[in-house]
Amino acid sequence: MREGTRDVTDHELQANTITPYKVTDSYRQQITNSRYYEQLRHIVELSAEEFASAGSLDTSGEHDNTVIPGFQHKYAQTGLLLVTDRCASYCRYCFRKRIVARNSEEVATDYVKISQYIARHPEISNVLLSGGDPFVLSTSKLNEILDHMLPIPHLDSIRLGTKMVAYEPRRFEDTSLPAMFQRIRNAGKAAVIVTHFDHIGEISADAQRCIHSMRELGVQFLNQSVLLAKVNDDPDILAETFSKCHQIGDRPYYLFQARPVKGATHFQVPLRRGVEIVQGINQRLSGIHKTFKYIMSHRTGKIEILDLGADGRLYMRYHQNKCSQKIGKIFYRPYLEGACWLDDLPEG
Ligand code: SF4
Repeated sequence: MREGTRDVTDHELQANTITPYKVTDSYRQQITNSRYYEQLRHIVELSAEEFASAGSLDTSGEHDNTVIPGFQHKYAQTGLLLVTDRCASYCRYCFRKRIVARNSEEVATDYVKISQYIARHPEISNVLLSGGDPFVLSTSKLNEILDHMLPIPHLDSIRLGTKMVAYEPRRFEDTSLPAMFQRIRNAGKAAVIVTHFDHIGEISADAQRCIHSMRELGVQFLNQSVLLAKVNDDPDILAETFSKCHQIGDRPYYLFQARPVKGATHFQVPLRRGVEIVQGINQRLSGIHKTFKYIMSHRTGKIEILDLGADGRLYMRYHQNKCSQKIGKIFYRPYLEGACWLDDLPEG
């Protein structure tokens, strides 16, 4: 632990539900050689604040939306698969700390049952392979999962959410990957990789090469970032990050408000500051760059954070909700100074 003066044992980490430390050599090298080490180190380096941070291990109600172990169905059109509990490196702010590096029973095992469920639900148009990071699995294992998904006619896209493009971009040099993406295309479905770049300093030359070559295979790219105190709570940094993503064909998609995760609440930025940062980003970008939404992935749904009005109200809108009638509806809560999450704001 860099900021503390004491060693921490594995037992102590486990007793406090703190994710072990793990970082790839290539990511360590990338952030060390970038101009941003002092910001980027917080993404992967253990800090004493993790022991003091209260919070929840399931901030988005994932447990309640699990219909088969490892498979969630929260929003009508999307099926979410947890295909592994491992990642190449561990983000200190991870919102799935209850799963990652834990031999979790929440990882999918029964793909027959899952595919039967999807087949019975024609409203599911896409599946998202997540975890953990699906690209820690071998390509043959990913192909086995696809064996169950590709025959389902009403799926129009297969999404893979990954931070591997930042943590180990050379994973994508695997010569068996082009055939896997071709299979998805041959099945008439879009292959979409959702990358996870939080900061311009994470976008290495290898990452850019890998995105370029996979785009040539017809893979679509979207990027999601998390707004993180001390890392990227700066409109200049995020505007640069989103411009770079746009330039390399990785469309900025979501900027997530950091969740009140146990061991990670010190990463949260107050909503007032978040709104200011998003306005700052938008002032720095042209229309074609600002394709992202500032989102709070809440238990009740995906909430787009719109503005803090002169009337002291935080205005929001449901981007996704289990109840389709609520999608698109603007609502507000009186703002309380320092609030970082919907539950910090009074109703009314
Ligand atoms: S890559 Fe994703 S799942 Fe893995 S530790 Fe980071 S945020 Fe969590």
